[in-house]
Formats: sequence, structure tokens, C-alpha cells
Amino acid sequence: MNETLRRAGALSWAGVNTLGQSLRKRGLDIDADVIVVGAGLAGLAAAAEAAEAGRTVLLLDQEPEQSLGGQAWWSFGGLFFVDSPEQRRLRIKDSLDLAWQDWTGTAGFDRPEDELPRRWARAYVEWAATEKRSWLRQMGHRVVPVVGWAERGGDQATGHGNSVPRFHITWGTGPGVVEPFERRVRAAAADGRLKFLFRHRVDALTMTNGVVDGVAGTVLEPSDAPRGTPSSRTPAAQGSAFELRAQAVIVTSGGIGGNHDLVRKAWPERLGSPPARMLSGVPAHVDGRMIEITEQAGGQVINRDRMWHYVEGITNWNPVWPLHGIRILPGPSSLWLDATGRRLPGPLYPGFDTLGTLAHLRGTGYDHSWFILTRKIIAREFALSGSEQNPDLTGRDRRAMLTSRFGGRVPGPVQAFVDRGADFVTGRSLAGLVDGMNTITGGAPRLDVATVRAEVVARDREAMNPFGKDGQLIAVRGARAYLGDRLMRVARPHRLLDPAAGPLIAVRLHVLTRKTLGGLHTDLSARVLRSDGNPVPGLYAAGEAAGFGGGGMHGYRSLEGTFLGGCLFSGRTAGRAAAAATAG
Ligand SMILES: Cc1cc2nc3c(=O)[nH]c(=O)nc-3n(C[C@H](O)[C@H](O)[C@H](O)COP(=O)(O)OP(=O)(O)OC[C@H]3O[C@@H](n4cnc5c(N)ncnc54)[C@H](O)[C@@H]3O)c2cc1C
Repeated sequence: MNETLRRAGALSWAGVNTLGQSLRKRGLDIDADVIVVGAGLAGLAAAAEAAEAGRTVLLLDQEPEQSLGGQAWWSFGGLFFVDSPEQRRLRIKDSLDLAWQDWTGTAGFDRPEDELPRRWARAYVEWAATEKRSWLRQMGHRVVPVVGWAERGGDQATGHGNSVPRFHITWGTGPGVVEPFERRVRAAAADGRLKFLFRHRVDALTMTNGVVDGVAGTVLEPSDAPRGTPSSRTPAAQGSAFELRAQAVIVTSGGIGGNHDLVRKAWPERLGSPPARMLSGVPAHVDGRMIEITEQAGGQVINRDRMWHYVEGITNWNPVWPLHGIRILPGPSSLWLDATGRRLPGPLYPGFDTLGTLAHLRGTGYDHSWFILTRKIIAREFALSGSEQNPDLTGRDRRAMLTSRFGGRVPGPVQAFVDRGADFVTGRSLAGLVDGMNTITGGAPRLDVATVRAEVVARDREAMNPFGKDGQLIAVRGARAYLGDRLMRVARPHRLLDPAAGPLIAVRLHVLTRKTLGGLHTDLSARVLRSDGNPVPGLYAAGEAAGFGGGGMHGYRSLEGTFLGGCLFSGRTAGRAAAAATAG
């Protein structure tokens, strides 16, 4: 161990020395059994498992302590469960077979390197159909009783999308997902088994004879940047280099969504050209840097071109991180027009096919598109993804939830966007609305009232019967056959030009970067593989950095609510495997 570097890099070494002393008693010249790089959800799950298995753990993060939990804290907390009691209570008939049919139809695995991702996917879906809910529940995790229906697909039984509602929203949203895992790692820290090292940025993985045996990096200056805001990358005033040794290193550093240069570089041709301007759905720390560092140590990245970006992004009027965008989780009723005012083809309806819609919109030659809707639709159908956008659920406030979700009024956070958001226009008449739309785009391109009116009027004629040929209206009626949607998610079909449903609202939508579907290639024990298929000894990866397991267990697309669970499943696997490998 390089004592000079270790001392020089110290913010507080008391805990490390305690861990180190016990290890040295076992004759090991290391600082801990396991080092975990990244204290997001995957890192918390991995660290908790390793520490509870009796290993000593160092949990490093470049961000300050107040950002513990990473992206998961900001998340909506939507989780994919299969055949849950909540589904059964709502008469949803789900099964492992149906979920696997949906998963494979959505993933579209078609590459030789999909073998391990596909096996991770199978293990994950089985877990979601069995132990996942009870494992979380015995840690105190709870979900809202109404199950959401995300990514509905709309093609064929074997195609993309969820055949049934499976999106279980955490009571407490993202912070409610982080809470049990934070509790577990803090308990391990109190027991002296785990030490947090915040503001420790890893710059390299160290190796001896081809075995990863630690990390080297820079201690960054202290930061009081509020959670989620960018913290400085300035080294601590003096002696900022550090080096730490362990028998196993687990990389849980997140994806690339905050680094638009990397997103553009990896953007696949099948999605057209990347937009000139995108919003960020993730904090700046989701920078992909540690994935490159892991590649330098021999780890292989696969499926780099697979990514999950949203097409319903709106500019946050109250941003936390750079280019902060919020994703609308839309119900199915809004009329979706491209930038020139042409209606999107079926089944590209709101909330049906994220990447199909992205590919279509990239072919229009413009970066934005439009929702046109009514006050009635926005009140019932707009949910905003993000813990801070759902104070009722995040604060576990039943009364506020009932008022805001069932009261028929526009929820407060949505109304704030209507009033203050740069992408929202309200109008009593369609002509006035289109005028407002042209004002916010500066007429690039100029929308023609007659083109928009023709789409709206044609759609409205179809809304007058309980049957018809308009695919979107058929889908809306189908959705209302599900009690959860009828109660709180899907407005009764009505004419957009019905004055009683108004005023009219238009929302300009942007592409919003979020999830990285490909990543570090890992085996079923979360060991990072080289391009020759052999593991890099001592090295593990989990969470978004590892494509949520295997280097891309989602394949090309996701059923939603599968990312947090993917972090938990792969983090748990990595923590247990590293603990087993360092036993004795
Ligand atoms: C607004 C929002 C809503 C979402 N909603 C949902 C949802 O409803 N359902 C769902 O399933 N998913 C959702 N997600 C996605 C999900 O939250 C993420 O995919 C998941 O939390 C990623 O966790 P992670 O641990 O892999 O990475 P992260 O949370 O990104 O954590 C990685 C950590 O590693 C640290 N790090 C990186 N590099 C280094 C380095 N070199 N040295 C030291 N530390 C480093 C970072 O600072 C960070 O703290 C949402 C995400 C967001 C942002």
C-alpha cells in the first residue's frame, strides 16, 4: 500500500484505518475487502449486501454526501412487478409467461453478445414475478395501490409493450426506494464494516499481475452544492491524490445520459440523426467517465448504441441540473402532432412506444413535436416523472394524493408548468393557440392554423361515438376498461374543441436523455468480462453502468419501471458475488 498517497488523500481516515487494521490482522495488506465506486442505488445495494455478508467495504462517490442515492432519489420510483397483489386486486391477470413474452418482444435481442443480457433478463423477470416485491416489502418498501400502465405498445401480442399494467409506484417515490438501502449501509457504517468516502473521484483502476486490486483517484474539494446540482471538480487544496486497495472492486457509476457528447457519439442510425438540442433527464454526474476508465482496465462495453431517451421532455422552469428537463408520463388522449402540424401515425400515441416515436420524429427534420389537449385531459392524464414533481406521493400524504389525483383539478406541479413553463401555450380558440405556438418557436417551422384545425376536427368527429376507426380513440376506450385508468389516468373521450373541456393547451415536446441500455459486459455473477469473454479478475459491475445486468438486459427497448429494479437486482448480485469471492 502506498502510505504517502493514502495519507495525502485523506479527508478522514479513522474509519479506513479501523477497517484496515482488522484486515491486516488477517494478514492482508488492503484497506477493505470490497471497494464500491458510486453510491447510487446499485452501489447502495451492492455495498449493503457485501457488508452484511461480513466483508469490509469502502463506498466511494465523487459527489458530496447530500447527493447519496444518485439518480434513484430523483426518480418517480416506478417498479416492474409481475402478478402482484396490487395487480390481482385490480383484476389484472398477469403471469411470468405473459411478462416474458412482453419482455422479449420489446427487447428484440438479435446479437450474439445478447446471450448474457438475455439470461440476465430472464433471471430479472423471474425475480420480478417472485421474490422482488416481498424482498423490498420486508425492508419497509410500499407501493401505491393503483398500478400504472406504461409503454403500452399497440402492435401485436408478440411485439413491443406491456400487455397489462405493471408500473407500481413507490409510496414515497424515489426517496422511498433509496431509504431502505441507505438505512442498511448506514447501519453497516455504524458497525464499523463500511466507510463512506464522499468527494472521492476514481480516475483509474489499479492492477497487479492482471488482477484489479484497487482504485486511484482524486479527493475533490468539499462541496455544499445542493443535491443534484453540479459539484465542483476542483481537487482538495493539497495532497488530493489517493490510492486504495481491496480484493474486489464493484463499478456502479451510472450511465452516460448527462454527457450529450457521449450520447451523440453512440447515437444509432436507426434512430435518425441526434437532435441538435436535447434536454437532460439526469444530473451532470451521469457522465459515463467511469465506464471509459473500466474499459481502460480491460472491461468490454457492449450494446453502446442502445439507449432510452424520451420524446415528451419539457424544459424545467425551476431547474436543478444543467438543461434540466422533466418527462411527462402521458395518458393516451393528447393529440400528437409533429413540428409541422401533421398527426403522428398509429400506434405512436402518448405512452405507447417511446423509441418508435423517437425514430419517427427524427425523420421529420425537426427536434420538437406538440401535444394538443384540453384542461380536462391535462387534469386527468399528465403525471410528471421525478420525486420533486410529486410532493403528495413523495411526502406520503394520503389526503393530498386523493385531492390531486382524484379531485378533477390540475395537480399543482402540472399547473406550475402551465403557468410558468417555456413550452406551454393556452388558448380559448384554436387560432389563438396556434398563434401562441408560433410565438414560442419563433415560427421555426411556422404552423398553419388550417393544417392543425383539419387534424383536430377530423379527430373530434371520431370522438362522438363509442366506436369508430381512429386507432387512438379505440385505445383510449380500451384503456378505460381498466379500472385504474378510468379512475385516475384516462379522461372520458371528448371533443378537443368542446368549450366545456377547455381551454385548449399546447405543449412543445423535446427529446430528453435518460437511460443507457448498453454497458459493461458482465457474467451472471456480475463479473466484468474482457472482449475474449474471460472475466477481469477482481472486477464487478452493476446498475446502469452494466446495462442493468449483462451489458444490456433490456435489449433495444424497455417496459418501464425496470431500471430501479435492474439496479437492485444487479447490485445485489454483485455485492453477494464479491462477498463470496473475498470470504476467508
Ligand atoms: C428523474 C428520473 C426519474 C426516473 N424514474 C424511474 C422510474 O420511475 N423507474 C425506474 O425504474 N427508473 C427510473 N429512473 C432511472 C433510475 O433512477 C436510474 O437508472 C438508476 O437510479 C441508476 O442508478 P445507478 O446506481 O446505476 O447510477 P447513478 O444513480 O447514476 O449513481 C452513480 C453514482 O456513481 C458516482 N460516480 C460516477 N463516476 C464516479 C467516479 N469516477 N468516481 C466516484 N464516483 C463516481 C456518481 O456520482 C453517482 O452518485 C429515473 C431516473 C431519473 C433521473
